[in-house]
Amino acid sequence: MGADVIVVGAGAFGCNAAWHLRRRGLEVLVVEAVDRPATQATGAAAGFVAQFSSVHHSEWGEVEWGMQRYGIGFYADLAGRCGRDIGFCPCGIAYIYQSREGWERAQVAIEAARALETQLEALTAGRASEVVPEIRFERTAGTVFDPTAIRLRAGDAIAALAAEVALQGVRFEYGAAVEALLGAGEGRIRGVQTSRGDFVSSRVLLATGAWTRPLLARVGVQLAAEPVVVARYTTRPLAGIRRQMPMLMFSDSEHRFWIRAERGGLLIGGADPKPLPDDRRVDAALPPFVHQLPGDHAIRMRENVRKVEDILPALKEADIDEIKAGMPCYTDDRLFAASAVADVEGLYVLAACNEAGITHGPALGRHMAELITDGETELDGSRYDLARLSRG
Ligand SMILES: Cc1cc2nc3c(=O)[nH]c(=O)nc-3n(C[C@H](O)[C@H](O)[C@H](O)COP(=O)(O)OP(=O)(O)OC[C@H]3O[C@@H](n4cnc5c(N)ncnc54)[C@H](O)[C@@H]3O)c2cc1C
Repeated sequence: MGADVIVVGAGAFGCNAAWHLRRRGLEVLVVEAVDRPATQATGAAAGFVAQFSSVHHSEWGEVEWGMQRYGIGFYADLAGRCGRDIGFCPCGIAYIYQSREGWERAQVAIEAARALETQLEALTAGRASEVVPEIRFERTAGTVFDPTAIRLRAGDAIAALAAEVALQGVRFEYGAAVEALLGAGEGRIRGVQTSRGDFVSSRVLLATGAWTRPLLARVGVQLAAEPVVVARYTTRPLAGIRRQMPMLMFSDSEHRFWIRAERGGLLIGGADPKPLPDDRRVDAALPPFVHQLPGDHAIRMRENVRKVEDILPALKEADIDEIKAGMPCYTDDRLFAASAVADVEGLYVLAACNEAGITHGPALGRHMAELITDGETELDGSRYDLARLSRG
């Protein structure tokens, strides 16, 4: 049976694209290698959805700010209508600075973010005790709060989205790993060859995360996006952690810790100093599935996070209960790949998530649906054109 469009991959990118394509009236088939949605990078994601532009990520600006805002609204609506617990909480986010220099430098970014109408509040001691009593504000150089940020359990949220689109008529073929792109050699896509047979369509969207690069390589298209292992962990319930605790970003820490409440305990991740340890590297030509990834990164973070337990005392007891890891893919410019593939008519790509695919997934899904249906897109498509990542 054919479809107007085949979406390959049922992660955050694939499901968001399927939702927006269906909304535009297309018959959509999602083809997924494993037996359920949201098991790979999406299942490991920390579920921060926030207006990171300007204040936290210098490569992102006004365009991404609009996308982030759309993502917040999209998931808030999903949480309201899906009838499932997706871990949704409109808790806001607090960016914590430990050094005076870091806090001073942040003022420029804060002004830029405010110019984008992000409601940032530099907390006073009094406000900090109301908004984020979990931290010792006096141990910080400054803390700025954005009340609009939300959190969710990304795996559960995207599974809920998959269930919703299935009810709307989107078909899912699970356990069907795409092995070849039919027609790509002749410059016009005809469908996909999978481990469960062929599926036919004149339009195919690859939303296959870390596996997009090897799939494209098979048809001679380069995708300069590096898969990197990112692992995070959750704790058992801890005393004094409220459900409503804002998400915390230690913005000028060498580890840039990100911490949020999860089921009465904490979810914790952070960065390694460069160069990246070997356990964070994978073979980009043959990425492993997530259950094969090592958890060393999270184990290191358990020790590193002790460096900020004077600010967040609950960290003293924040031992590892469960580790999850995934492989986001990074580009040099930290922007996404969301475009048509130049030399193969009907082939599209939505990949290179830069560890931000939950937040930007809804807007990127909308962008791809616009591109695939009528070619008129709200976002400037050149910003995310695959061609910039395909030059040798
Ligand atoms: C620890 C961690 C924390 C993160 N925290 C955040 C966060 O707080 N906020 C945020 O916005 N982002 C976060 N991210 C990033 C986020 O997880 C990713 O950006 C997002 O999940 C990417 O979605 P995806 O659909 O591209 O990839 P994936 O979820 O990996 O989905 C790709 C899908 O394609 C399928 N597939 C692969 N090959 C084939 C094939 N040949 N045939 C058929 N199917 C195939 C896979 O099985 C998989 O289901 C985090 C990531 C990690 C690892």
